[in-house]
Amino acid sequence: MKTETVLRIVDLFAAICFILALKGLSNPKGARRGNIIGAFGMAVAIGFNFATPGLHRFAIILIAMAIGTAIGVPIARYVKMTAVPQMVAGFNGVGGGAAALVAMSDFLQSHPQQLAVYQIIEVLFGVIVGSVSFSGSIIAFAKLQELMTGRPITYPGQKVINGTVFAAIIAGGAWVCVAPHTGVIVGVAVLSLVFGAAFVLPIGGADVPVLISLLNSFTGLAVAASGFVLHSVLLVVAGTLVGASGTLLTRMMSQAMGRSLANILFSAFGSVVVATEESGVEGRTVKSASAEDVAILLAYSRKVAIVPGYGLAVAQAQHVVRELADLLEARGVEVFYAIHPVAGRMPGHMNVLLAEANVPYDQLLEMEQANAAFPTTDVALVIGANDVVNPAAKSSPGSPIYGMPILNVDEAKNVIFLKRSMRPGFAGIENELMYQDATTLLFGDAKDSLTQLVAAVKNT
Ligand code: NDP
Repeated sequence: MKTETVLRIVDLFAAICFILALKGLSNPKGARRGNIIGAFGMAVAIGFNFATPGLHRFAIILIAMAIGTAIGVPIARYVKMTAVPQMVAGFNGVGGGAAALVAMSDFLQSHPQQLAVYQIIEVLFGVIVGSVSFSGSIIAFAKLQELMTGRPITYPGQKVINGTVFAAIIAGGAWVCVAPHTGVIVGVAVLSLVFGAAFVLPIGGADVPVLISLLNSFTGLAVAASGFVLHSVLLVVAGTLVGASGTLLTRMMSQAMGRSLANILFSAFGSVVVATEESGVEGRTVKSASAEDVAILLAYSRKVAIVPGYGLAVAQAQHVVRELADLLEARGVEVFYAIHPVAGRMPGHMNVLLAEANVPYDQLLEMEQANAAFPTTDVALVIGANDVVNPAAKSSPGSPIYGMPILNVDEAKNVIFLKRSMRPGFAGIENELMYQDATTLLFGDAKDSLTQLVAAVKNT
């Protein structure tokens, strides 16, 4: 068989691996398997593509791969779960930048005057979308890493300026199609970098992870475009898969937050709250209890809901929460975990965290199932969650989270919040639920409080 044919078959095999990987990644049970299949497909594709006829400069490629591996492996191994969104932003930016460079170098190495218009459009698409994704991701990374303010950055005439830059990019692109000059395409690339940064600046706070998902889909499309430029079927397939899954994820995240994508991108909503201990409404009191009191309530309940949120991830309390759940179950208490789709700071955050502690999947209830179970629940133990249980989402039209579907923990007989202070959640708004009669607060770091609860339940 000809080398070319073997390579096409390998490409097809790798593409099937990527599709199976995505299928595995779509549920917690298959995620690990999906990851391994995807990595295997990628390794096979890279390995066999070294056999591509006409491929040269092996040494440079190998050095680049070694540098990438030396940077990527430690990041992947040591990054904290709470820092995964900025890691994804960084990796995504690099992917977008690479796609833009591939398209640009193909243009520079060819005889641009001899390129057909459709070929120039392929190059332009890769350059524009890849550059927007690169600079946008860098700004998103800086916001999440707190290298710059996470708040929306706005200034007078911002939308007009952004619109003008965008129009200039389109005009420059049209110019390149008519008269393919190197200087003009470089100008288009620079304007695209400016646009990517300008587009991301007014997006802030809780909206940044949604933005990253959108930029991720842009990178996928840029990679698919560079696949057309390089005549690589595999790049087209892989880029399209990333583009499509990123688009779906963006849509699902905006739905889970109860907002339209246009509202997320263009309304400069989303604040990062620098909250203080005194953030609670002045003069109002909350009911707090000791771990021993809460343990007695839990131990003598019939049904307990565990509602994990961002604070559980910060405290790294996933193992001890499982220990508490096991203890309660051993006493005959029915325990379930109520998972909100945007609890934490990235999609699937709570699933990943609880999977790490080997929490059985059948105990994880999605929002609709959990909401059906709350009216018959004795205690809802809200651990480091706030916005995802805040009734303001249903009752306060002016609230930034208004319209977001929430976990109706207020329908349980008792609500216990495990948190350190009266600080609000990510959206920065007061939670009325804290002040209700059926609510009790157990103040402290989630891991410490849960450790105390475990000890107290054992003694009950
Ligand atoms: P929140 O950010 O609303 O609340 C987290 C709570 O955890 C805070 O009230 C904080 O209170 C508490 N906390 C923090 N650290 C600890 C600790 N060590 N021990 C105990 N408690 C702690 O989290 P939710 O999960 O309820 O909501 C997620 C938010 O993120 C939503 O607004 C959502 O829209 C947003 N978001 C999520 C995305 C996702 O994909 N998951 C994407 C985009 C946005 P205190 O400081 O007093 O302890």
